[in-house]
Amino acid sequence: MNVVDADEALRRLMEGNRRFVENVRSVQAMVCDRAELSRGQRPFAIVLCCSDSRSPAETIFDQGLGCLFVIRVAGNIVAPSQIASVEFAVERFHTRLVVVMGHSHCGAISATLDAIQAGRGAGNLASIVDRIRPAVLPLLQTELAEDRESLERAAVRANVEASVRQLRYGSRLLEEQLISGGLRIVGAEYDLVTGRVDFFETERELNGCATPRKPGPGR
Ligand SMILES: [Zn+2]
Repeated sequence: MNVVDADEALRRLMEGNRRFVENVRSVQAMVCDRAELSRGQRPFAIVLCCSDSRSPAETIFDQGLGCLFVIRVAGNIVAPSQIASVEFAVERFHTRLVVVMGHSHCGAISATLDAIQAGRGAGNLASIVDRIRPAVLPLLQTELAEDRESLERAAVRANVEASVRQLRYGSRLLEEQLISGGLRIVGAEYDLVTGRVDFFETERELNGCATPRKPGPGR
């Protein structure tokens, strides 16, 4: 089986996003061989992103059917079912790149900040909010608490970084693949206004400086 390595997968996503920003669509993203796809899939990247109607990964990265294994959940949180979905794609399809992608103006982030600042529960949203809360709580102890716009931007990023950590260290299978299987898990943020996706730490990682940290005691 031809496996697309993580660096190549990342480059494809970056190039696709560049096309999206420039309002250019590749032919490959628009046409597909459904009969061929019915025989199997080989997604070259896994994307965990928000359910927000404005952030569909296939469109943002200009990719066609069968290219991306996409997991969408409000607030791009990591709960056991998201970990299981990522493990499934890594094992079954040998996909080597996982991207956790948050986005600007995220309603789940906003709802979490509202719930914390109002000191009340979040009703049915609690299962989402409670997973975002630990990542954003420390920000409320800084001067960001006085500036809602900056606070939301920082919270989006902090939440993505928390999800990346949970995937990196919340699964033995993923940890092993990170250390010796060529797997990479990176964070990213999609800007609703510019259409651009900013990959965190990408330059350092592309230069081969990425070293998976030793797993913590908790799992
Ligand atoms: Zn969102």
